[in-house]
Amino acid sequence: MLSDKELIEQLKIRLAKSAEMAVMLAKQGEELQSVNEKLSESEALKSHFISNITNEIVNPFASILGLSKNIIASKESDIIKIKSMAELIHSEAFELDFQLKNIFTAARIEAGEASPEYIKTDISQLITSIISAYKYKAEQKQLKINFSFDLDKALSDAHFFRTDPEKLKLIISNLLSNGIKYSNAANRIEVKAWRDENSLKLMVKDFGIGIDKKNLEIIFDRFKRLDASINSLNPGHGLGLSVTKSLLDLMNGNIEIASKRGIGSIFTISIPEGDDTNSDGYALDGNEFIFGNSEDEVF
Ligand code: ADP
Repeated sequence: MLSDKELIEQLKIRLAKSAEMAVMLAKQGEELQSVNEKLSESEALKSHFISNITNEIVNPFASILGLSKNIIASKESDIIKIKSMAELIHSEAFELDFQLKNIFTAARIEAGEASPEYIKTDISQLITSIISAYKYKAEQKQLKINFSFDLDKALSDAHFFRTDPEKLKLIISNLLSNGIKYSNAANRIEVKAWRDENSLKLMVKDFGIGIDKKNLEIIFDRFKRLDASINSLNPGHGLGLSVTKSLLDLMNGNIEIASKRGIGSIFTISIPEGDDTNSDGYALDGNEFIFGNSEDEVF
């Protein structure tokens, strides 16, 4: 049997414990609420993404079908009209292909099926081919893209670097596509690549709308898009930079941004050279894959 004093002591201890519990429960409640908020934010972003993406896939297909039907029905003498419709088809298909690559890559990353495949790649040629693919888009905004490749003269003028060309191509395409989208018209974009010890560095600089300091981190979040007004005019669904960041993580690379609102942005990536456990082939621009002689290795 407990004495009265002991009983009071026990009750005091229990009371203190339940007060502690109440504090803990309140804290957990707050945490749950914040998780809930985050979840519903991500649900909202997802459903926005789904409706957005439906437009972005359905609309280009409708244009491509309509335009190609017009071309088929055109007279041979309408060559100028035919050419301009073919250009529009190309531009729609190009954007569609790019968006789908981001979506499929995001899905592959999520499924854990995106491990890098390193091969010797002609970086200069890879970048040149990406820039030339974006030439039409840049011309539509009267933008000039300057590309310079600074390679240590002591090495060689061949620019082979062991990397995953498909992944690198998507990373650069995303940075360049954003540079074009968020540039003011009649300006220029600078693309510069160089080697820093065992890493490849690449910079894409635009003189566009820029990004506020407070937003520099969140632009890497999936589906996140800033500036509703400018973005209502631009295709995209906030997937590009999150895919870019994940691909860089997979290749042990990183990305830095220097940006000022109203002045422009500089995105700089750094990717270490991949190991040579994969194949011995080499790629010219991410599309071609040629088996080479390992004696030809430059680095
Ligand atoms: P998307 O361009 O499809 O919206 P991204 O993930 O590539 O998606 O970019 C996320 C957001 O970051 C963009 O919507 C835009 O608000 C901002 N952003 C990205 N690149 C730039 C840039 N070069 N200049 C200004 N804002 C940018």
